[in-house]
Amino acid sequence: MLTLEALTLRQGDFTLHADWTLAPGARLALIGPSGAGKSTVLASIAGFLDPEAGRILWEGRDLRGTPPGKRPVAMLFQDGNLFPHLTVARNVGLGIRPDLKLTAADRDRVSAALTRVGLAGMEDRMPGSLSGGQQSRVALARVLVMDRPLLLLDEPFAALGPALRAEMLELVSALCDDTGATLVMVSHAPEDAQRITGLTCVVADGQAAPPVDTAAVFADPPQVLRDYLG
Ligand code: ADP
Ligand code: MG
Repeated sequence: MLTLEALTLRQGDFTLHADWTLAPGARLALIGPSGAGKSTVLASIAGFLDPEAGRILWEGRDLRGTPPGKRPVAMLFQDGNLFPHLTVARNVGLGIRPDLKLTAADRDRVSAALTRVGLAGMEDRMPGSLSGGQQSRVALARVLVMDRPLLLLDEPFAALGPALRAEMLELVSALCDDTGATLVMVSHAPEDAQRITGLTCVVADGQAAPPVDTAAVFADPPQVLRDYLG
């Protein structure tokens, strides 16, 4: 269970409030205008930004002071998820051991994760030789081997076309089914939220609102979402 308890986040002049809880295994979309604070929310959960006030709890435990690498979190960003000078296997292996001193068992886990995301046998390829969709799959294989219960996605598929993006979201959904992970995903596209997340948090006007049912929110959008969706 993820709890943002009376949380205030600040970045320069920008302030954002949140006060809600997300049940284990839930899938939440953060949606709202550019600059509204979606990435700020993820940064705070991932441990890149300390709360100004309030607490972030995972299963009742306050995460304050826990460094990003020790949090129960795997995160993918919009860009730069792969190191271009490392092979596919090593990019995935970083999710097991950041020093890349991989054992034979670790390498087997890497290969199994690559197979799960549809990249069997691609261990020795370089990221630059892969398509955008394949690169996204490598990043998801790393998420798999990290084996963390909370997956944070900050528009990692935004550069892909709609069909490929839909395919990646289906894969994310299947991986969450496999692992039971809780998902928090930033998206600017309502169809992404509708595709895989049961819950939506509208981020606007300095608030990350409590999660509401995704189908309901898009059936009858609040005014800030209407303004944003056009
Ligand atoms: P979103 O992801 O919804 O587009 P962000 O969370 O990236 O929005 O940013 C929220 C606000 O925080 C923006 O208005 C931005 O100007 C401000 N902001 C983001 N990063 C910084 C920073 N490093 N220093 C100062 N202000 C920042
Ligand atoms: Mg952002």
